[in-house]
Amino acid sequence: MLSYRPNAHTTNDVVRQAIIPMTAANGSSYAQLVNRGEPKMPQKMVTHNWSNLFRDLLASVIADALEEHTFELVSALLSDEVGINALEQMIQVQGNLEDVYWICAFAVNQHSGICGANPRADVDPVTMLPHPVCSCGTPKFFNSTPPLNQHGESIHCEMNKFDDMMSFLACRDVSFAEVVAVDASLELFSRAWCMAELFEAHRMGMTQILLVRNKDTLLRRQHMLEGLRVQDMKASRQQDVDVILAKIPNKDAFNQRLRSLILDRNVGLLTAWKQADSLQQIEQLSHVLKWARLSTSVEDGLQVWQNWV
Ligand SMILES: [Zn+2]
Repeated sequence: MLSYRPNAHTTNDVVRQAIIPMTAANGSSYAQLVNRGEPKMPQKMVTHNWSNLFRDLLASVIADALEEHTFELVSALLSDEVGINALEQMIQVQGNLEDVYWICAFAVNQHSGICGANPRADVDPVTMLPHPVCSCGTPKFFNSTPPLNQHGESIHCEMNKFDDMMSFLACRDVSFAEVVAVDASLELFSRAWCMAELFEAHRMGMTQILLVRNKDTLLRRQHMLEGLRVQDMKASRQQDVDVILAKIPNKDAFNQRLRSLILDRNVGLLTAWKQADSLQQIEQLSHVLKWARLSTSVEDGLQVWQNWV
């Protein structure tokens, strides 16, 4: 993706301009391409919004692999080659380089779904050119493409199975966890898919790990989360919003449960995040020592301290 700029391009841009073109000849997902068709079982799935910066999605995953709760430093390191190399080596030192995360943008075959159209006329934020559409002949399966199951859902569609996939993964691995990659503007909390995944993971008793840019982003915008309503949530395809809303008969009760899942003073995700973060702050010395240990064991580790905030 020649125009790629870490501080401008979103996951949607990268899917449209890198992932889809790279995988078009194969007509497969990116994961199938790079793993040469060999299936890999993930230990974690990542909930994220496609409007987030691609850099920040990666930063959240890498920060999680480095057992951090914020991704600002990792984001800064991801902005150039030297920082990327240092991060890769540090994850190796940490022993987590082989961990497998499930991320829809990579794991879903975009050629069986969205590749052939750009219905919202999205443009590249740098070149301002519309995203190209793919001309591959891979058959497309959307939510209601036959054959259908007894609930009227497409059997071959890869975009309508998040709850089946989550329950499959959670059943076979009790430690299977959800990483929630929260974007800097907290838009994730207004995306229908993300909230449906958040709720489903909670219902299944998965460990949920929130990654946020830094403490300030979270505290400044927390009031916005108090008015969360599933009826206001958005998805790029209206049919997805309809499917999600249809699965929630009592929306008021759902909204209340969603808000308490995130905001509850005792057990909410944000409370858990704040506690984990303040523990890391209290243990600032051991936190700094961890980064010192990681950065001194790799080449270009000095880069870490140039980006330390
Ligand atoms: Zn295609």
